Amino acid sequence: MSNVETAPVETSCGHEAVPDGPTHELLPGREVVLGGPRGMTVSRTLPHKERRMVGAWCFVDQYGPADHDMRVAPHPHTGLQTVTWLVEGEVLHRDSVGSRALVRPGQLNLMTAGHGISHSEESPVPRTEPLHGVQLWVALPDAARSVAPAFEHHPDLPVVELAGATLTVIMGELAGAVSPATAYTPLVGAEAALAAGAEITLALRGDFEYAALVLDGAAHIDGVPLTPGTLLYLGRERTSLDLAAAGPARVLLLGGEPFEEEIVMWWNFVGRSHDDVAAAREQWMAADPRFGEVVGYDGAPLPAPVLPNAQLKPRGRRR
Ligand code: MN
Repeated sequence: MSNVETAPVETSCGHEAVPDGPTHELLPGREVVLGGPRGMTVSRTLPHKERRMVGAWCFVDQYGPADHDMRVAPHPHTGLQTVTWLVEGEVLHRDSVGSRALVRPGQLNLMTAGHGISHSEESPVPRTEPLHGVQLWVALPDAARSVAPAFEHHPDLPVVELAGATLTVIMGELAGAVSPATAYTPLVGAEAALAAGAEITLALRGDFEYAALVLDGAAHIDGVPLTPGTLLYLGRERTSLDLAAAGPARVLLLGGEPFEEEIVMWWNFVGRSHDDVAAAREQWMAADPRFGEVVGYDGAPLPAPVLPNAQLKPRGRRR
């Protein structure tokens, strides 16, 4: 998906000396309308004004269930990976490295922008189900942020059956299962589908920070009641996490080693400086080969918004 705000606020992610212990920080999402007044409304919980990243996860948009078509025209990305994860519906992805992939619930579309890529995302026509899912971005570390662009479709992610819950490991490792998805920093993304009355305990890594988002239903995360639209930041130094649900629920767990590099995040670009981002913007508007071409999308590419007057500043992972 694209960040299609017409005047995106400069956001950036990265650095602090004080270690975070276990905590409960409720980060309510802000409503953002993608693609204008008739566009789709999403709840954006990262970047949040109080906390910009969880591990390398730097962007969390949650949408639906909505009777709405997704139609995001070709747009560029740099320095990040996009993770598409659906609860319901289907999204057709096309990109400038020649990919065309329909993603369905339980499957992962992972796009590594690296040096530069462009892609489009749309609902199949006719759309038969509501659209319900999340769009996540993972910041690439400096050593990998200029890798060649790539796309992976993972239809068979590892699934762990627990008493009362089905765990799907989207990225990284959890409960002894390892996702085949390419990651460039130590991180985890997993979905727990909880049956009514389920109470489970997941083993976590003390060196990771974690957050949880309810995708569907309602759940108690470490005793905290949570519903869709709010991200619960859980901090570090946890070796386990309790999840419970009275009714059926889906919980997304995100975690990773704290990302200590400062980054500049603006529109659909992650860079390290104002100049990085300004150059990417300029190249996109000039149809530079850096971003290739998306073939098959019926419509014009998205123009980049105007850069703010002020210099974009690299920022740390929390404010
Ligand atoms: Mn996108």
